[in-house]
Amino acid sequence: MRWPRLPRRREGAAGPEQPPDHERDRQRMVWEQLQARGVRDPEVLEAFQSVPRHAFVQGDEPYGDHAMPVGSGQTISQPYVVARMTQAARPAGPDGWHGANVLEVGTGSGYQAAILAELGARVTSIERHPELAAEARRALAAAGYDEDRVRVVVGDGTEGWPDAGPYRSILVTAGGPSVPKPLLEQLDPDGGRLIMPVGDRQHQYLTLVVRHGTDLQSTELEPVVFVPLIGRFGLEG
Ligand code: SAM
Repeated sequence: MRWPRLPRRREGAAGPEQPPDHERDRQRMVWEQLQARGVRDPEVLEAFQSVPRHAFVQGDEPYGDHAMPVGSGQTISQPYVVARMTQAARPAGPDGWHGANVLEVGTGSGYQAAILAELGARVTSIERHPELAAEARRALAAAGYDEDRVRVVVGDGTEGWPDAGPYRSILVTAGGPSVPKPLLEQLDPDGGRLIMPVGDRQHQYLTLVVRHGTDLQSTELEPVVFVPLIGRFGLEG
């Protein structure tokens, strides 16, 4: 007996393509990439379940376990690293993120800023590339995060944004040799928390700094690789 000949199936040629199921992909990302690796803060997990990452990043696998391009030669880290930074930067006290004044340096796609806004923070986010800032503003507005929740400004984030400080939490999402002094000055002296990848251009350590008055406690968390923090108190472009 001969086996019937079946038409060869090529991926995508078998019939109408299924639209991506972003809700399911996000759920899987939260379980497999975040919870399984020790991200336990329920508010953080909920925020990652809610924010549509596919609306911010470029490429076919917005929920994949890898960095993604965001335009202008920049990338955003894999979801786990974004979650790890967010969890570590949670403002101290019972209110946590709710109503907290937060600075992000390196807006990129706007995804990290959206996560912070979803958690209830009032976010100022600085980007040095005007075209990235414009695109992030557009993506944030389209996803429902208006200017009251996230304000994207263009500038050298190594100088911070003193007009809106002090900040309960500062997240620096580009790597540099040391934490820029202006950022430490703009950190809330009453337990403000700053997280930044500190190291050379190839390797950095996620570093958490907690400020009490003039006392700065610094802890290295884990190795990471970020794009360079370019500016007056960072690296040369
Ligand atoms: N947080 C971003 C997101 O959610 O997509 C990803 C940030 S990407 C890893 C780093 C960003 O930092 C890039 O967009 C880069 O242009 C920006 N950057 C580097 N140096 C900067 C500086 N001094 N001030 C502001 N932005 C800077």
